[in-house]
Amino acid sequence: MELPSGVGAALAFVLGAVVGSFANSIAYRLPRDISIVSPRSFCESCERAIPFWANIPILAYIGLRGRCLMCGAAIPLRHFMTEFGLAIIALFLYLSFPLGDAGARFVLCAALFVVALIDYDWRLIPNLVTFPGMLVGLVLVALFVPEVGWKSSLIGIIAGGGVLFLTGYLYELLRGREGVGMGDVWLLGMVGGFLGWPGVIFTLFFGSMLGAVGGIIFALTGGKTAAPVADPAGDQVEADSSILQTTVPFGPFLAVAAGIFALFQPQLARWYLGG
Ligand SMILES: [Zn+2]
Repeated sequence: MELPSGVGAALAFVLGAVVGSFANSIAYRLPRDISIVSPRSFCESCERAIPFWANIPILAYIGLRGRCLMCGAAIPLRHFMTEFGLAIIALFLYLSFPLGDAGARFVLCAALFVVALIDYDWRLIPNLVTFPGMLVGLVLVALFVPEVGWKSSLIGIIAGGGVLFLTGYLYELLRGREGVGMGDVWLLGMVGGFLGWPGVIFTLFFGSMLGAVGGIIFALTGGKTAAPVADPAGDQVEADSSILQTTVPFGPFLAVAAGIFALFQPQLARWYLGG
């Protein structure tokens, strides 16, 4: 691959991979109540400590052909995908935005990976990530992201948290059971903090669409759902309400939608405004 601005771009890629490795570690340890700093990296199968060189992001996975050095157990592919994904994202952001702006967007993307991985495994979104995430988003936006701006960020936090909270509350009132997890509410609040209120709207609608498609695929491939999935020809509201009834986690779809907005906000804004 050609690296237009050379060293900086290479550094961005490496930093992204390292943060990806760290994100994997947090996603594994946080729900299990294991400290982030100690013990140092260990195999999830044999739980033995991983030698430093076998812990190098991306390269170690390729070099070891996806197997633990000590016990031979398969290392989950998503470890590699997270490292590689965040490396590519860091490179793309570095090349596309001013440094501070790129950094703010990268912090959000890293948090989204952690949230998506944990929600996929545990069907829960850690407040430990999303609560501070809202505030961090507001501060970083105020400092580095003029095209979002602190006002839009603040409205985004309130709109993101508030709108989904209200939707969930009404749903519960009408159907008598919880439709939207509170975790999704705070996740959308964090997205609002980083991306402003337009980012919240995009994430909610595009994430719901992805979630509906994901729910249908999940049902067709034999996944358990609590209710029939939407008619593929059904309208948005129909699809939306049915995904809320499935056991498919909603967080990863919201995370993907928010990530797309974080990466392509200028293009999306141009496309939207240009009709
Ligand atoms: Zn092992």
